Amino acid sequence: MISERANRVKPSPTLTMDTKAKEMKAAGIDVISFGVGEPDFDTPGHIKEAAVRALREGKTKYTAAAGIPELKEAIAAKLLRDNGLTYKPTEIIVSCGAKHSLYNIFQAILSPGDEVIIPAPYWVSYPAQVLLNDGVPVIADTREEDGFNLDPSDLGSLITERTRAIILNYPSNPTGLAYDRKTLEAVGELAVKHNLHIVSDEVYEKLLYDGAEHISIASISEEIKKRTLLVNGISKSHAMTGWRIGYTAGPEDIIKAMTKIQGQSTSNPNSIAQWAAVEALNGPEDFLEPMLREFDRRRKYLVTELNATEGITCMMPRGAFYAFPNVSGILGRKGPDGEIKDSSDLAMYLLEEARVALVPGSAFGKEGFLRISYATSMENIEEGIRRIRGALERLQ
Ligand SMILES: *Cc1c(COP(=O)(O)O)cnc(C)c1O
Repeated sequence: MISERANRVKPSPTLTMDTKAKEMKAAGIDVISFGVGEPDFDTPGHIKEAAVRALREGKTKYTAAAGIPELKEAIAAKLLRDNGLTYKPTEIIVSCGAKHSLYNIFQAILSPGDEVIIPAPYWVSYPAQVLLNDGVPVIADTREEDGFNLDPSDLGSLITERTRAIILNYPSNPTGLAYDRKTLEAVGELAVKHNLHIVSDEVYEKLLYDGAEHISIASISEEIKKRTLLVNGISKSHAMTGWRIGYTAGPEDIIKAMTKIQGQSTSNPNSIAQWAAVEALNGPEDFLEPMLREFDRRRKYLVTELNATEGITCMMPRGAFYAFPNVSGILGRKGPDGEIKDSSDLAMYLLEEARVALVPGSAFGKEGFLRISYATSMENIEEGIRRIRGALERLQ
């Protein structure tokens, strides 16, 4: 018997695609994957060395549930250095990836029926995590014409007695949007006025282009900081997705509740990965510049080529490593299995006919778009674009 809770969440719409792509690969078909949500770079050597050292030194035991003091200190130093924010160790908790940080936040702040406002397009796990924690996701749609920016008055109209929190993700997965100070101020003001928490997912902070600057909403005012749960990690910035280290900084009472929950569920994040994370945060960041330069080159190439493809338009993303092209011009055309009705049909068609795996916009709550990750080689991007064009030309 499966619980009512487990039945609340649908299997990820990306899963069907992913399973199918893997099956095709296993059958020897060369599929180009634009679906990946992780850097294609290796973890920098000095960080791996720190992990090896920790292993040799026998740092292989349980640690404090909320993380080793050395890592909390490194996180506090990072938040001060990069974001101008001061946090005490008791205001920080390390979890098994930023995804786990988010999950623990919803465990700690949601009671049954509490509403959480989620701007769309959203990262796929937000609505699912809210549902798994007895909350109600309330989707705030945004428009491509506005660059998917938030309209504070739209947001205001969604706030009810039951609203507990609003999730912000900037730079955004999937759109690459980075909010400007004005937008963050307006959202912060709303949160203060209606006594809401701001869940601020900043995992793509380091991946910004064209001179865009990351502003953490918590740095805008003390009032806003008091209600913000700042989530960050090292997966995306340090090419460390497999290590599973993320963290939350926020009000002490919530951090304490999250620590209690974590202590009764996972206990501490992996001890060796924590020592590697200390090095990631305290060590040199010179690997970042070449990684960014390469992402930037691919971003410009990919978006230019998408815009030069009939039926597709694409905004230039300012952060992260995804393009989010508008493909509504293609919907309604006919393929071998009938009409391409939506982004999901199109993604399936491109997988079967172009051998290119990507994620339909519907997975992010936005129909008429696709998400293409450029965390893959330039050769793959060039070949992928060729294949997409060829397959689109065959549609009627
Ligand atoms: C990748 C990602 C995460 C999770 O990162 P981990 O630290 O690997 O768990 C969280 N939020 C967004 C928007 C992401 O894209």
